[in-house]
Amino acid sequence: ATLPPFKNEPPTDWTVEANRRSFASALREVRKSMPFQAPLIIDGKKIKTEEIIESRNPNSFSEIVGVASKANGSHAQKAVEAAWKAFPSWGDTPPERRAEILIRAAEEARKKRHFLAALQVLEVGKSWSEADADVCEAIDFLEYYAREMIRLSRPRRMGDVPGEISELFYEPRGVALVVAPWNFPLAISTGMTSAALVTGNTVVYKPSSQSAITGYMMVTLFEKAGLPPGVLNYLPGPGRIIGDHLLRHPLVHMIAFTGSKEVGLHIIAQAAQTPPEAQHVKSVIAEMGGKNAIIIDSDADLDEAVVHVLHSAFGYQGQKCSACSRVIVLEENYDRFVTRLKAAAESIEIGPVEDPRFFMGAVIDEGAQKKIMEYIEHGKKDGKVLVMKTPEKGAEGGYFVPLTIFTDLPPDHRLCQEEIFGPVLVVIKARTFDEALDIANGTAFALTGGVFSRSPQNIEKAKKAFRVGNLYINRGITGAIVNRHPFGGFKLSGIGSKAGGPDYLLQFMVPRNNVENT
Ligand code: GLU
Repeated sequence: ATLPPFKNEPPTDWTVEANRRSFASALREVRKSMPFQAPLIIDGKKIKTEEIIESRNPNSFSEIVGVASKANGSHAQKAVEAAWKAFPSWGDTPPERRAEILIRAAEEARKKRHFLAALQVLEVGKSWSEADADVCEAIDFLEYYAREMIRLSRPRRMGDVPGEISELFYEPRGVALVVAPWNFPLAISTGMTSAALVTGNTVVYKPSSQSAITGYMMVTLFEKAGLPPGVLNYLPGPGRIIGDHLLRHPLVHMIAFTGSKEVGLHIIAQAAQTPPEAQHVKSVIAEMGGKNAIIIDSDADLDEAVVHVLHSAFGYQGQKCSACSRVIVLEENYDRFVTRLKAAAESIEIGPVEDPRFFMGAVIDEGAQKKIMEYIEHGKKDGKVLVMKTPEKGAEGGYFVPLTIFTDLPPDHRLCQEEIFGPVLVVIKARTFDEALDIANGTAFALTGGVFSRSPQNIEKAKKAFRVGNLYINRGITGAIVNRHPFGGFKLSGIGSKAGGPDYLLQFMVPRNNVENT
């Protein structure tokens, strides 16, 4: 049967009381089941280890959300072997059948979407709507890549020379290692994993330790959908032990990674060291950081700009590679914009996000808290604090940092150059639109960017000269939607083509060409 055309999963309508109630009850249900248990899954077998990973609620760190097993080098070895053993039959499974499994996994996710989102509220500290959006995106990836695979599975006739039939087609690479981040714990894990699976690869999936339980839930969606054992192996564990083992393993054919620039560059370097027994060069897709800017032109609609800048900078505490961390304002608008930004930022409520009144909650863990606080100290020393909003009472038990906005820092300052991954924004003044573009482009990253302007000429200029993977005009710069906004950058923001776009699956396959003289 042919699939109906792709449609994005609609987010929950929070104005409907029944939806709010259902979400609150999902939160209670998650709480009741805590701590969840997540054993390793290798070759379809569940393995409990002595050593464990405790996944805690960032907003209340005495609370253990779940306990995951912790893999070591020998588990990593077994997982790769299991994936390699499962490869021939999975790789030869017809693409339509593989696509069907994704569609079924999407159905499973839809059935428990509030549960999957509520788990994220507690495990990684997303607000209700951010968590809900993550689940929608996961469903979108499954539905979209299923259809993409069907499109790409038809061999393509090349040329039209009489007496020659030349066909281009794609086949899977082998074992894919998927290394996923905690900040979109279901969506990005599902995106990378489903792309690898639907193209016929088998997978060793290493979730982030901070979101190991949500990662486990993703694997159970695929299990319920009927994925055969060994095709997807769940392997949480410390990057330096299992990560490095897997990165150099001769049977790992490709790596799909999303995370920090530091880890991404390490993966690229490790993967390049082809061991003597290897029969292929590993390919790497690495989606790394950003230092994203929004330009506020002299004729920008400030009511719109202020709201979208705040959303882009402080949604999920700024813990998105797409987040806005610099706002570059044309001189004529500077004082007006800064006054309004300050007033609006000060009205944001910060506290444990399980209560939907709070827009901003705690950051992921103690390490993140410490790193962000260090950046804030540098900012205080070298620039001026415009806003420093601390959380409300009741936030003592979480990893909170203040929402912070600085002015008067030079564009080459580390706060304007390095990815902070927290709720820290710098406002920079520019004399002309060209200067604003130069400042915007003046980092090692090129992921997202935004412009608020009413000038068709400046908008056209930005479309060409604001060199980022995803440019957003007169809107916020986070929340790329599958199929509508293929997502990903270049420079040190990453290598590989855009997630949720038409080129993405090609990276998980090798192209072949057959020519027959007839
Ligand atoms: N795709 C997400 C967005 O557009 C960002 C992904 C990330 O932070 O890794 O906001």
